[in-house]
Amino acid sequence: HADAAMFTAKRNGRNRYQFYSKEIEARLLIKKHLENAVANQGENHGFEVHYQPKIDVIHNRIIGVEALVRWRNQDNKIINPIQFIPLAEETGLIIPLGELILKQACEQAYQWETSGHGIGVAVNISLVQFEHKDFFNTVTQIIEQSKISPHLIELEITESVLAKDTEKARKLILKLQEFGVKVALDDFGTGYSSLAYIKDFTFDVLKIDQSFVKNTLENKKDQAIIFAIIQMAKGLDLKLVAEGVETKEHSDFLLNLGCNVMQGYYYSKPVIAKEIDKLLQEFSAVAPAKN
Ligand code: C2E
Ligand code: MG
Ligand code: MG
Ligand code: MG
Repeated sequence: HADAAMFTAKRNGRNRYQFYSKEIEARLLIKKHLENAVANQGENHGFEVHYQPKIDVIHNRIIGVEALVRWRNQDNKIINPIQFIPLAEETGLIIPLGELILKQACEQAYQWETSGHGIGVAVNISLVQFEHKDFFNTVTQIIEQSKISPHLIELEITESVLAKDTEKARKLILKLQEFGVKVALDDFGTGYSSLAYIKDFTFDVLKIDQSFVKNTLENKKDQAIIFAIIQMAKGLDLKLVAEGVETKEHSDFLLNLGCNVMQGYYYSKPVIAKEIDKLLQEFSAVAPAKN
């Protein structure tokens, strides 16, 4: 028995070791690429921003897009952010990477604006970025340099940002909005979800998390939650976006409840900017209001 136990321990240990070494290898590779991307200003080293449209299904028009970063590796394989954003956050590399993403998104937004499709572009912001002392200056500088109208840029933050230092976050959000950008609360309902946040903060947009949308057709609880979020948003005059709309049934259900702006695979996956150009021909486009 002792031998068997020893054998099991050794085997597990070895597997674990192999698992760790594989993981460490992958992390080092990603870290190296992040560092290269960051060191070579102007070159993106395979980091590219894709865009997913947000559609007002009543008017059949694109009201904006969400910028979502991808990494195209040496084999031309697309690596999703879940595989490198957490690492970038841990190592602090999210700061320069975030700048690179915001720059790319603002430059693209400016191209859309000057070509007559002034759609809003939403950019995800990590807690680490939001908390960085230079965050406000960086954001405003990038926006000014790209010449994009600030009201066309929307920053998506999550509830984690609000929980950390609520008063500081509240002030920073107001300052950003005074500068002219919009602020959206992403993944609503999954985080700390204090209703006080909704009351005390002045969000421009609330994004219903996809986890509620996913099961909404079968799960009565998810239905009730979505219903409540929609009623609340109406009462507070908050714009709503439903994430993760994958089917016509999802879309119909949400529309019936009074949510008409949708984002999800049913309408389009995140795609490169050129594909958005095509979609802009299909759907009509409309710019968000300045206020
Ligand atoms: P998120 O901001 O909540 O973005 C929505 C995610 O849902 C995206 O995943 C999008 O591709 C995916 N999605 C959209 N429609 C559907 C659908 O119908 N069904 C399903 N199952 N999924 C859908 P993605 O691009 O893999 O990004 C994952 C997360 O990584 C994002 O969640 C965001 O938190 C983070 N992220 C992505 N890009 C950036 C970035 O540029 N900067 C930062 N800081 N974080 C980013
Ligand atoms: Mg988002
Ligand atoms: Mg989200
Ligand atoms: Mg999410």
